[in-house]
Amino acid sequence: MNKRIEYRDGDWIVPDHPVIPYIEGDGIGVDITPSVLRVVDHAVRSEFGETRAIQWLEILAGEKALSATGDLLPEATLEAIRAHRICLKGPLTTPIGGGFRSINVTLRQVLGLYACVRPVFHVAGVPSPVKAPDDLNLIIFRENLEDVYAGIEFEANSRDADHIISVLEAMGKTVLPGSAVGIKPMSRERTEQLVRMALRHAVDRRRSVVTLVHKGNIQKFTEGAFKTWGFELARREFGDRVVFEPQGPDGVPPAGKILVNDRIADAMFQQLLLRPREYQILATPNLNGDYLSDAAAAQVGGLGMAPGANIGDGYAVFEATHGSAPKHAGQDKANPGSLLLSACMMLEHIGWAGVSTRIRAALGATVQQGVVTYDLARLMGVSPVPTSVFANELIANL
Ligand code: NAD
Repeated sequence: MNKRIEYRDGDWIVPDHPVIPYIEGDGIGVDITPSVLRVVDHAVRSEFGETRAIQWLEILAGEKALSATGDLLPEATLEAIRAHRICLKGPLTTPIGGGFRSINVTLRQVLGLYACVRPVFHVAGVPSPVKAPDDLNLIIFRENLEDVYAGIEFEANSRDADHIISVLEAMGKTVLPGSAVGIKPMSRERTEQLVRMALRHAVDRRRSVVTLVHKGNIQKFTEGAFKTWGFELARREFGDRVVFEPQGPDGVPPAGKILVNDRIADAMFQQLLLRPREYQILATPNLNGDYLSDAAAAQVGGLGMAPGANIGDGYAVFEATHGSAPKHAGQDKANPGSLLLSACMMLEHIGWAGVSTRIRAALGATVQQGVVTYDLARLMGVSPVPTSVFANELIANL
């Protein structure tokens, strides 16, 4: 019996007992990942009985991989993700110095995971710094491979930087001698992939507004082109499904249509706070999306409960949005919420949305009962429970 998830002509084919690789992660990965797997297994059993189950396959990355194989990201790990197409990933520490590239960035580039997808919604009971956190319910599609994440930069006073400065001078652009230089590449191809994914999501999930967020007022040929290419793609590939002007007094598009609009990045931060209900899907270049995702997550209670995924055509890695929080590692105290909600995205991605709905409901119920880990407990004025106890209570609430 084939237990591999397959991807054919844009469709995911999922067997009843799929093998899904997972990376435990560094730091608090050891605390949160086993709890998440346990909750997911129980939820799958609640939904499907014995007819379906995930066969978890541990693959190594980060410190665990380094001590077992001498390599932070072994080729076998990449091969396992390629073979099984999806992966649930705990946080990985980015080694500072020593010439290592971030494992997270490498995974995205090697697997062509061109979209970082971050749903932002409020989990009932989670304390938030705003009055009406439930008003924000959106999903951010952020370009993942270009812009500043392409990592093309040259040190001040280096030969390469000086060379680029002299080339720029020959083009009539003035740069102070001795400057550091960074290059911000943005292509039509990557922009179209990203905007297409955002629009398809709108079609599939019946969402009615897609907003392109850019800084095109200042950077016309990169950020401005993002908007132009995105609008052209929407017109060309989604023709009669999209409109570009707000319709009616509330700016609501006609039934069945998707309003494609745009906002300047800095204004978008204000809009999220002042008019959150007007936004459903954001499509952004890399750096804007980086900032916006965390700011939006803060509005609904912070990164401890913010899920994320890196998605390409036929491959997807679902991961906690926070890091490895090394100072809390191994203490059974970290919040597994972010990784658990990322697992929910994974379940929705493979068509097991009913399991995800169960977990989300149980998570809300558990938090509302005041059963929370230390990070939320101190904000809610209740006593914290360990990660493992939080997971037990969640399972009881499934
Ligand atoms: P971090 O998110 O690991 O931790 C910042 C603080 O947030 C922690 O000290 C802790 O107080 C809190 N926190 C984070 N996750 C929590 C959780 N699940 N439960 C409770 N509290 C939590 O950020 P950092 O300290 O900047 O980074 C640590 C390491 O993680 C770095 O090496 C960084 O590169 C890496 N990192 C990895 C990823 C990833 O794997 N996708 C993302 C961000 C950072």
